Amino acid sequence: MQFDEIIKDTNYSDSNKPNLLDYKKQYENFDWYRDAFSKLDWLPDGGLNNAYECVDRHVKNGFGDKLALVWLGKNGEEENYTYKDFKDQSDKFGQVMINLGMEKGDRVFIFMDRLPELYFAAMGILKAGGVIAPLFSAFGPDPVKDRMLDAGAAYLVTSPDLRKKISPIIKDIKTLKEIIVVNKDNRFEDPLVDNDLDYEALMKDVNAESFKLVNTSQYDFSIMHYTSGSTGKPKGVLHRHQAVVQQMLTGHWALELSHGDIYFCTADPGWVTGTSYGMIAPWTNGVTQIIYEGGFSASSWYEIIQKYKVDVWYTAPTAIRLLMRSGEEVVNRYDLTSLKFIGSVGEPLNPEAVVWGERNYKLPIHDNWWQTETGAIMCANYSSTNIKPGSMGRPFPGITMGILDDQYNEIENEDSGILAVRPGWPSQMFAYWKQDDMHNSRFKKGWYITGDQASRDKEGYFWFQGRADDVINTAGHLVGPFEVESALIEHPAVAEAGVIGKPDPIAMEIVKAFVTLNPDYEQTDELRRELIRFSREKLSAGVAPREIDFLETMPKTRSGKIMRRLLKARELGEPEGDISTLEDD
Ligand code: ATP
Ligand code: MG
Repeated sequence: MQFDEIIKDTNYSDSNKPNLLDYKKQYENFDWYRDAFSKLDWLPDGGLNNAYECVDRHVKNGFGDKLALVWLGKNGEEENYTYKDFKDQSDKFGQVMINLGMEKGDRVFIFMDRLPELYFAAMGILKAGGVIAPLFSAFGPDPVKDRMLDAGAAYLVTSPDLRKKISPIIKDIKTLKEIIVVNKDNRFEDPLVDNDLDYEALMKDVNAESFKLVNTSQYDFSIMHYTSGSTGKPKGVLHRHQAVVQQMLTGHWALELSHGDIYFCTADPGWVTGTSYGMIAPWTNGVTQIIYEGGFSASSWYEIIQKYKVDVWYTAPTAIRLLMRSGEEVVNRYDLTSLKFIGSVGEPLNPEAVVWGERNYKLPIHDNWWQTETGAIMCANYSSTNIKPGSMGRPFPGITMGILDDQYNEIENEDSGILAVRPGWPSQMFAYWKQDDMHNSRFKKGWYITGDQASRDKEGYFWFQGRADDVINTAGHLVGPFEVESALIEHPAVAEAGVIGKPDPIAMEIVKAFVTLNPDYEQTDELRRELIRFSREKLSAGVAPREIDFLETMPKTRSGKIMRRLLKARELGEPEGDISTLEDD
């Protein structure tokens, strides 16, 4: 079926009514079992499986002919898959994995571009009881080797170009049993190396009907995700099937996803957002998901929203800053009125970006906060509640968040402190892989310690201040880099800002900023002085940066997060540490 036919009869959500109608009431009366666990189908004998909830249940419930996935290839290709197609493809891949001898809990790495087969494989592996470990396709051999060794990878699903890129390290992964190579549309000649298996050939040999879904329980492992590496060496975070409960409900209440919506998530599955909200949350909510193989491009993204009449768009501050940089004229060339909700995650969303979004998209951008460790959204600005620009909103129903002092006692006033969460939420990580001590160190006095600093205002909104490692102590004041960065990017010359504490014999640390400029601005001493003056007017003199350096590009992780630890190491001439997730310039 073609996309145009399908959107006419699937888009039946009432776009005027928020899914979470009354935040306060829902928060006060919330019950995970009544409001979330009971909304899933569960397996016939009481088990729970992410992929069954994402795919199979929609077929069982009569939505098999609705579109699950619209794939837009980087060469202009378009492929449409219904939920029934998706079920068949993932069943077949599940059978492939069973035939290869995969056992429950085996870690299967997926190292490929955003192709439909990535998603068929992921769902198939989950149905067959395996644990998926997705990686950024832009990774070089070393980051892939580190992670596969760490996790004891049993299988690898990849594409011919990427397979060749990592050839030198393959022999080091002693636990690896098979490599499955997807040569999409025969894009590559000579796709296989050594004993590699050909995806197409394996899929031809099996049929969907004979596959029997492995009975996973809610406590079985499902996903192993490495953190972004913003603060240090990435940690392997292990999740369980029951995370789906929270992913489904946050998708519905915090991102406004409803059956039949058209959804566009710009995150790659190499980052947890591309897994929790680029696979599980949207498909459990029965949406049509647009998967775009290409990278960032303002005009391509707007074109997608216009052409496919996207309802919900989930992106990240780094992308929004790039969209701002690419200018208002580009936005005005497109009709983006199909959008009913825009969400953002990954870094603090500068107030300037909220205001810009409102002006250009005629919709607010809703910031929400969570981590690889939390598995799903924990704190959000909801469609039905007022947005305070710069705030990450209020805790999701069922989630208790607190601000703690350095002894891990809760602070009742509006001071800032350690951002913490009461453990026991459904998508809570089970472990840091093989790092029990580190895992245990994150739990203190009945709280999970997030590693972030924040404050809470009288109305219960949380305000992100910075990562605990990044907070600056200058002349007795604690300064969060975010407020300084946000002030700087309000200046028309500044595209992005990264702020660090630079050791100082008198003040302990001074605030130092690094900025990249918008097109048409030059890196001059005059501009530098103007930016210092500008930030002094916005902030107090003690908080404004004392030094500003210009950069051509801001060092960021592949998930788009500013790497302040790298700015600092470079400033101080210290070793750069783990830079496996550093985005190429
Ligand atoms: P690592 O743990 O390896 O240092 P990371 O923390 O960046 O990397 P992720 O789990 O991808 O890895 O990111 C979670 C972190 O991202 C949060 O702890 C927080 O610092 C930041 N973050 C996510 N969303 C927001 C938000 N809405 N506002 C502010 N910060 C956010
Ligand atoms: Mg982290």
